[in-house]
Amino acid sequence: MLDDKADDPIMISALEHWSYCPRQCALIHLEQTFDENLYTLRGNALHARVDEPTSEEIEGVRVERAVPLWSKRLGLVGKADVVEFHGDTPYPVEYKHGPRREHEHDDLQVCAQAMCLEEMIGKAVPRGAIFHHSSRRRREVIFDESLRHGVEEAVLAIRKMLAERVLPPPVNDKRCDQCSLKESCLPSVIGEQGRAKRLVRDLFVVPVP
Ligand code: SF4
Repeated sequence: MLDDKADDPIMISALEHWSYCPRQCALIHLEQTFDENLYTLRGNALHARVDEPTSEEIEGVRVERAVPLWSKRLGLVGKADVVEFHGDTPYPVEYKHGPRREHEHDDLQVCAQAMCLEEMIGKAVPRGAIFHHSSRRRREVIFDESLRHGVEEAVLAIRKMLAERVLPPPVNDKRCDQCSLKESCLPSVIGEQGRAKRLVRDLFVVPVP
């Protein structure tokens, strides 16, 4: 069960960060570290287009952009890129600049948006979608029990990390190649504990001439 008395709301985007790499989540949401790389710049450029709050009707579907979201129960705040209303039923759509990959991270984020909408509007939100800009295609996401459970587990884990203020260890794998925080994180140095210890020890060794 989630603590409904959680005071400090967590950004919905933290769930995607946590799912990708817990250390990345901690660096951003605990230490406020943020660096840009090609991937984040592309993402920013894409989101700039959907960051303007607008409302229009397209072929009978009301389309709201940049919709503020929150959940008191989960202790989450954030924003949906797009929420379509198919009749009375909200349908969140999250925009991603990259190709169709890393499903689980994106799915967690859009499911959290749906759970916020359900609490705010009082309507069931059974599905939504990820729009992949590079392929210009949508992938529908079903918000089943397992995904909703994953959101709740991630919220608890993030809240614990924020309360304990401890940086998780680096994953130090191929995820680091695309991570904008690589320079701040130093995953290969920190990840290799033995090497790091040797480096520290050697700092204090004075070479004998
Ligand atoms: S560089 Fe690697 S370990 Fe460090 S935050 Fe990024 S993904 Fe995580």
